[in-house]
Amino acid sequence: MKKLQKIIPFLITSLFLLSTLSLAAQHRVIRIVDGDTIVVDDQGKHEKVRLLCVNTPESVHPDKKQNIPMGKVASNYAKERFKGKYVDLEFEGPIRGRYGRLLAYVFVDGVNFNLELVREGLSPYYTKYGLSQKYDKEFREAEQYAQKQKLNIWGDPELTQKYLRLKSKWGQYKSTVSSSPATIQTKEWKYVASKNSNVFHRPECKWAKRISPKNLIGFKSREEAIRNGRRPCRSCKP
Ligand SMILES: [Zn+2]
Repeated sequence: MKKLQKIIPFLITSLFLLSTLSLAAQHRVIRIVDGDTIVVDDQGKHEKVRLLCVNTPESVHPDKKQNIPMGKVASNYAKERFKGKYVDLEFEGPIRGRYGRLLAYVFVDGVNFNLELVREGLSPYYTKYGLSQKYDKEFREAEQYAQKQKLNIWGDPELTQKYLRLKSKWGQYKSTVSSSPATIQTKEWKYVASKNSNVFHRPECKWAKRISPKNLIGFKSREEAIRNGRRPCRSCKP
């Protein structure tokens, strides 16, 4: 009987895992949309996957002026790398983003392809929507490597200028978060939290200000926050 008591929580966990198993399994790559977006098979269903923390130059943008040769280079690189391959997906934060696409790190032959793109200079470390929670250090190192070796983007003076300009903007994006539209919205909320955390804050809390706008959610009352499984922050004591 004691044994059974030990096993039951395990069984429940296993059942829960089984229900999400199709996303944990390996997926056949069906199609490459461009360097940072692929389509994989999920038990017969085709899922579009947007790779986290990268943004390769455009190659299939509807506005053709945005498509540049380096976009084609990145797209061809991905096509070559994923030809006939099965991949693993790893998630961080929300599983789906805008347009219902999966947001993931894609592992091919056990290698983090998102990092590989940055290491090859085919994408900057893309932080517009926040830093990588799992691989921030690795992304920085990969980007420094590609810049030093002048690979692809970083071997083209014009593109280098463009991406350095963008990168400084993404940096500002983080530091001026208090004036971003998401924060204006918080004025209607009494309390806020991150989708990825079980703590809630007063909007003016320094920790609240560090929440990436895409992860920010709000509550009209303490009760609502607690009902949503959040506990009060120890710093701002909401
Ligand atoms: Zn707080």
